[in-house]
Amino acid sequence: MTALHVAVVGKGLIGSAAARHLAEAGCEVTLIGPDEPADYRSHGGVFAAHYDPARITRIMDRDPLWAGWAAASISRYPALEAATGMKFHHPVGFLAAAGEGSDLLPAMEASARAFGMQPLTDARHPFRLPPGTATRFESAPGGYIDARRCVQAQTIAAVAAGAKVVRLPVWALRSENGVVRAILDDGSEVRADQVLVCAGAFSAVVGLAPGMPLQADGRVVLLARVEDDLAERFAAMPSLIRVDAAADLADVYLLPPVRYPDGKRYIKIGTGAIRHPLDDLESLQCWYRDGAVGDDAARLAQAMFDLLPELEGAELRTDLCAVTTTPSGYPIIDWSKPGRIAVACGGNGKAAKSSDEIGRIAALLVTDQLDDPGLAAELRA
Ligand SMILES: Cc1cc2nc3c(=O)[nH]c(=O)nc-3n(C[C@H](O)[C@H](O)[C@H](O)COP(=O)(O)OP(=O)(O)OC[C@H]3O[C@@H](n4cnc5c(N)ncnc54)[C@H](O)[C@@H]3O)c2cc1C
Repeated sequence: MTALHVAVVGKGLIGSAAARHLAEAGCEVTLIGPDEPADYRSHGGVFAAHYDPARITRIMDRDPLWAGWAAASISRYPALEAATGMKFHHPVGFLAAAGEGSDLLPAMEASARAFGMQPLTDARHPFRLPPGTATRFESAPGGYIDARRCVQAQTIAAVAAGAKVVRLPVWALRSENGVVRAILDDGSEVRADQVLVCAGAFSAVVGLAPGMPLQADGRVVLLARVEDDLAERFAAMPSLIRVDAAADLADVYLLPPVRYPDGKRYIKIGTGAIRHPLDDLESLQCWYRDGAVGDDAARLAQAMFDLLPELEGAELRTDLCAVTTTPSGYPIIDWSKPGRIAVACGGNGKAAKSSDEIGRIAALLVTDQLDDPGLAAELRA
C-alpha cells in the first residue's frame, strides 16, 4: 500500500511539528514554506510569528485545554532536543502576577495542580509590582523557548523521518480528481493526497483557508538592551505575565535577558492589550516590513520601567509581529475541504509553547485518527 502523501503548507511552529508527527507516523510528507527573509524591508513574500528567540513557555494557564497542550508539548522537548542536537528550551521559570480580585491566579493554579504542580506563592523575583499584587511561580519546565530553533529542530526531525522540504511560498491550492495541487512561487506545483495549511497569519489573507474565521492582528514588542553587568544581576529572572486592570496596559508579558541575532542581549516586553487588525495580504506584508508603531512603544516602555526601573535609560528598539486570532480563542484544526484540505491555524498569540501538541492533533485529523469528539468540536471552525 502506498503511503498517504500530505503536503504541509507553512514551515512554522505548528507546520514543522505536524510534518514531524506525520512523517514519524509513516506518511509521505512534503513540508512547504520559505525560510526567514534576510531583509524584511525589501521582502515581497510572507513572514512568520516564530522569528524570535524567546517565546514564553508555561503549563499554568487560565484554560485547561491550553494547559494540557503546553504540558504535552513541553514533555516532548527533551527527546526532540536530544535527537536533533538543537537546544531551544530554557526552563528559567515563569511568574504570573495579578491584582487582588483577578480570577487569573486561581484559574492558573487549578490548571497547574491538574498536572501535579504546586506553584509557589512567595517566590523571589526582580519585578517592582504594585501593592496588593499576588504572584504564582512555575519552576522548570516553565521559562521560554527559542522559537526559531524549535522550528529548526522540528524540521530536522521531520527530515530524519523522511519528510522533504520545499523552501518556497504557496500562492494557491487546487483540489481536483482526488489530488490537491499546491502552486508554488516559481510556478511549479506539489501534488499530494491532502494538504494541511499551517501558514499562520498568512493562511487567510493568501486565500489558503477560505471560510475560516481567522484574523491577523499586528503586535509591537519593545526590546531594552541589557549590558553585561545588568544581565548578570538579572540572571535568575523568570518569564513574566502581569495582569492589572488598573494599569494603562491591562496585560503585559516580559522575557528575561536573551541574546538576539545582532549579538546583543535584550529584555523584551509585549502586550495583548493593543491590537492592529490586518485584513489583507498587503497590509500584513507592510506591517512586517515597516508598520507604524504609534504610541505602542512609549506605553510599553512605561510598563517596562514600572516593572524594572533599572532599565530606564537603556537603548530601546521595537520589533513587529502578527498573531492569528479565532472567535473561540482556540486554534482551528479542521477540514476546509473535507478529506482534502485541512487547516491548523489560530495560535491566538500563545501557541508557541503548545505547537508540538497542536501539530500532533492536526496530524491525527488528516490521518483520520482524531477520535475525541469533544476535542474535535472545540477545534472546529
Ligand atoms: C509578538 C508575539 C509574541 C508572542 N509570544 C508568545 C509567547 O510568549 N508564548 C507563546 O506560546 N506564543 C507566543 N506567540 C505566538 C506564537 O508565536 C504563535 O502562536 C505561533 O508562532 C503560531 O505558529 P504557526 O505555525 O501558526 O505560525 P508561524 O509560526 O507564523 O508559522 C507560519 C509559517 O507559515 C509560513 N507561510 C506563511 N504563508 C505561507 C505561504 N503562502 N506558503 C508557505 N508558507 C507560508 C511562514 O513563513 C511561517 O513559517 C507570540 C506571537 C507574537 C507575534
